[in-house]
Amino acid sequence: MNLDSNRHLLEIDQQHVWHPYASMTDRPVIHAVESAQGVRLTLGDGSVLVDGMASWWCAIHGYNHPVLNQAINDQLKRFSHVMFGGLTHQPACKLAEKLVQITPAPLQHVFFSDSGSVSVEVAIKMAIQYWYAQKKPKKHKFLTIRSGYHGDTFAAMSVCDPVTGMHEIFTHVLPGQFFANAPECRFDQEWDEQDISSLKKLIEENHAKIAAVILEPIVQGAGGMRFYSPHYLKRVRELCDQFDVLLIADEIATGFGRTGKLFACEHAGIAPDIMCIGKSLTGGYMTLAATLTTEHVSQTICSGQPGVFMHGPTFMGNPLACSVSLASIELLIGTPGSDWKANIDRIETLLGEQLSPARELAHVEDVRVLGAIGVIETKFPVEMDAITRELVRQGIWVRPFGKLVYIMPPYIISDKDLIFLCNKLIEVVSQRNLFAG
Ligand SMILES: *Cc1c(COP(=O)(O)O)cnc(C)c1O
Repeated sequence: MNLDSNRHLLEIDQQHVWHPYASMTDRPVIHAVESAQGVRLTLGDGSVLVDGMASWWCAIHGYNHPVLNQAINDQLKRFSHVMFGGLTHQPACKLAEKLVQITPAPLQHVFFSDSGSVSVEVAIKMAIQYWYAQKKPKKHKFLTIRSGYHGDTFAAMSVCDPVTGMHEIFTHVLPGQFFANAPECRFDQEWDEQDISSLKKLIEENHAKIAAVILEPIVQGAGGMRFYSPHYLKRVRELCDQFDVLLIADEIATGFGRTGKLFACEHAGIAPDIMCIGKSLTGGYMTLAATLTTEHVSQTICSGQPGVFMHGPTFMGNPLACSVSLASIELLIGTPGSDWKANIDRIETLLGEQLSPARELAHVEDVRVLGAIGVIETKFPVEMDAITRELVRQGIWVRPFGKLVYIMPPYIISDKDLIFLCNKLIEVVSQRNLFAG
């Protein structure tokens, strides 16, 4: 792109285009992307950035991948979309079969939708319909843990952290849910039974009203980038069973290897009753999400009134999205000789080594790494525009929020690029003036 057309594009953007969690009047710093290849984004002004975000957890194989491009092109030649009411097709069937194979064994049935938030709405509706079918309609509330994030639609918002979940101003119109204290035991810390006491008390006292516990297994993402003990998750599963409450695992961010297991539930060896996946499901190519559930849950729902599950998105099971998703899963786990686990371990080790110097900085609170996720938590919130400019100037694409500067790069990142990414990140974080306080 020449500089004039880049400038023109940014002008149009400034006049007409709303960005995520952004003001239309006090405009944030925005960059135009001209092309993307592997782990590199090329901007409209010619600068090239090493990507540390995988476009919000999604682009696990990097950008412009020939195998994923091919999968979409092949499907495009057949048909790009058909309605899913009364019709089915190979990409959706093969993807559903694959998802059932790779997720925890009890999950057998797949409901496709278009985005993570909607897959959470679907999970919530499944849990409500499940208890309705059992003639226990009073069980329609949800219990979750603080610091969680489950999406931006209304039911999803109602189970986000009421403070850090970005939806504070909607509190008065959201259904009231139950919030347990967030787990304090870190991922590799020794388990302390005290950690479960808040959730235990809430479930003991309110199980007659609670349809399900919903949480992000092991890694709490946008609500705080916290990694908690697998033992906590084990205890939640036990309490759900004991008090007849369903368990919904929101694996939208954690799914497909990001935490070092294919799904984060595996760290605790548990299976949820309902599971949401999205984000990296298509390798970041298209929007697609799915809600999986057990034979028992789906049979119960369908044995009650009105005998069907009451949801059906227009673009349900989009064939282009399903075909690229299948190709992405094949790339991750299906190709002989590809060892995704060893690769995530490689990234984890490097992140651990390369980010640890940040611990020495006076304004850094904590540095933590799990799988292909690296987090630098600071004592003061970032100055968003200033730090964005500086990150781009240093040649990396990272998007911090609040006191969290974090990276979750595409899995294909080389050692050299990852070291570059981490070094530049530390260089930026070292600059005290890029933080408030
Ligand atoms: C991103 C995210 C969602 C919402 O997904 P969208 O596709 O943005 O609607 C829900 N839950 C978790 C854990 C997420 O990370």
